[in-house]
Amino acid sequence: MRVLITGGAGFIGSHLADRLLARGDEVYVIDNLSTGSFSNINHLEDNPRFHVTIDTVQDQKVMKNLVAQCDVIYHLAAAVGVQYVIDNPLESLINNIRGTEIVLEQANVEKKKVILASSSEIYGKKNGNVPFREDDDRILGPTTVIRWSYSTSKSVDELLALAYWREKKLPTVIVRFFNVIGPRQTGRYGMVVPRFVKQSLLNHPVTIYGDGEQRRCFTDIDDALDGLIALAEHPSAVGEIFNLGSNFEISIKDLAHKIKTMTESSSPIKFIPYEEAFANGYEDLHYRVPNLDKIKSFVNYNPKFNLDATIRKIIAYHEA
Ligand code: UDP
Repeated sequence: MRVLITGGAGFIGSHLADRLLARGDEVYVIDNLSTGSFSNINHLEDNPRFHVTIDTVQDQKVMKNLVAQCDVIYHLAAAVGVQYVIDNPLESLINNIRGTEIVLEQANVEKKKVILASSSEIYGKKNGNVPFREDDDRILGPTTVIRWSYSTSKSVDELLALAYWREKKLPTVIVRFFNVIGPRQTGRYGMVVPRFVKQSLLNHPVTIYGDGEQRRCFTDIDDALDGLIALAEHPSAVGEIFNLGSNFEISIKDLAHKIKTMTESSSPIKFIPYEEAFANGYEDLHYRVPNLDKIKSFVNYNPKFNLDATIRKIIAYHEA
């Protein structure tokens, strides 16, 4: 296969490139290095089946050329991280919406399959502690809270992908990631696990926002890739939306203690009120857990890594 990965120098994209190269695919990556990093793909430079373009997916000409060379496109290029979206609201919106429009437009020329990376942000602050199902209603706050612009831009991406499938028979598959974690993920844009690991290793305060009772399910990058590739290659997944995650729940407070213990850290735990952590534009989600019935009914998806095993990989990465 000749595969194009947009956002291929990012955390998920670079691991996907590793995986596809290892099985013999020809891999093309485009990344503007806004949140991705060359250090994530440096080790691939000498591989003759690896091709990298440092540019934006918003450049029609560049995208036209790349799409023409490939059989399938994993569209992962997007603004990532709550902190990044709050700091760069305009760029995040334009990149997510305009970028996806161009990817789909170019893919449609020769009907190349597009796997669209979406997000559990789509659900917003859904009521009640009930695992999120793909066909659930979405509950978003006001447009003055910047967090909701990310959810909105991703929902426009999903609507575009669905419309291209329905009206133009462009094969698209939509995958909603739930808190994927692993080596190479940076804490710079807000992500909690790399932040807690780094803080613990340095014996700096571990910063819990709010009361730490909010709950998440973290997904190992290798499990996420198993699910992503299986969906990309399943003919009946076309035109469908899938949650991709794990359903092991943990509170952020328990996560902080777990990481502190695993790193044998002397870090104090510091509770930070939300108003102090983020000047404005932030509203936290109390609960975020995926219902995985759909992905399991389509492909053989069984997350293999428990949270401790994944955190061990992340600690080893940061120590190195
Ligand atoms: N969080 C935290 N301390 C940090 C960074 C994040 O307590 O230094 C919290 C954050 O408020 C949220 C959870 O950890 O409740 C997960 O945050 P992340 O940004 O990783 O993912 P998301 O909120 O998108 O699920």
